[in-house]
Amino acid sequence: MARRKKVYEGKAKILYEGPEPGTLIQYFKDEGAPGPSSEESAAAEGKGVLNNRLSEFFMAGLNAIGVPTHFIRRINMREQLVREAEIIPLQVVVRNFAAGDLSNRLGIPEGTPLPRPIVEYYYKDPRLNLPLVSEEHIIAFGWASQQDLDDIIALALRVNDFLSGVMLGVGTRLADFRLEIGRIWDGDFMRLIVADEISADSCRLWDLRRPEGAPASEPGPMADVYSELARRLGVLPSNVTHATKPTLIN
Ligand code: ADP
Ligand code: MG
Repeated sequence: MARRKKVYEGKAKILYEGPEPGTLIQYFKDEGAPGPSSEESAAAEGKGVLNNRLSEFFMAGLNAIGVPTHFIRRINMREQLVREAEIIPLQVVVRNFAAGDLSNRLGIPEGTPLPRPIVEYYYKDPRLNLPLVSEEHIIAFGWASQQDLDDIIALALRVNDFLSGVMLGVGTRLADFRLEIGRIWDGDFMRLIVADEISADSCRLWDLRRPEGAPASEPGPMADVYSELARRLGVLPSNVTHATKPTLIN
């Protein structure tokens, strides 16, 4: 096979030119797991394989309920085919419960339910450390228009409802998550779609299940989040085996 052209290499993924114009291949690396502090990132063995599956699962689900995403199909363990989009340089964050940055900035204890989902924007520029920006900045600097922002909020809230529901169904609380949005063009007609990834790296998840008989406690971060979420959602790749007791088949 001819060597593919690498378009971009980030912390967590590599983008290659796709087989047709307007497509890209996303390769999920094991690097780029959130590290102990917000500026650090680490590697977690096998997380690329699991995030590829998780992003496939969420994006295909969104496509199926009419929320447009870049996802076309998974190619193999670490790669998926996506539509190439013109990425809006923002990380769109939707928060349902106070945590992280919001708790620190506003002094709201981690875990506090928010009165309604809150949408925030962080400016994505490689020279900066994702500063929080307002709609004023976004419109004044031309990163997106007011109409785009209205569409982005509507998209982000639909994704939030879908993801929150899916997670709740498997005993998992979606405290917050981040999205990247891209533009695609059908002739002169522009549409906004969900791009990048929806995975264990882009969601802050808290475990609502507690061991039988354990005392009631505040939900905490989910342990082994990549494999645990994949297991709960039933999207573990078949050749990743886990030690379980043999079961009798009648
Ligand atoms: P980063 O370190 O910048 O977060 P990643 O390792 O996550 O990068 O690599 C993914 C890169 O690909 C990001 O810069 C993201 O904006 C970009 N990207 C994601 N989806 C698409 C798409 N459909 N079209 C074009 N670019 C995309
Ligand atoms: Mg990224």
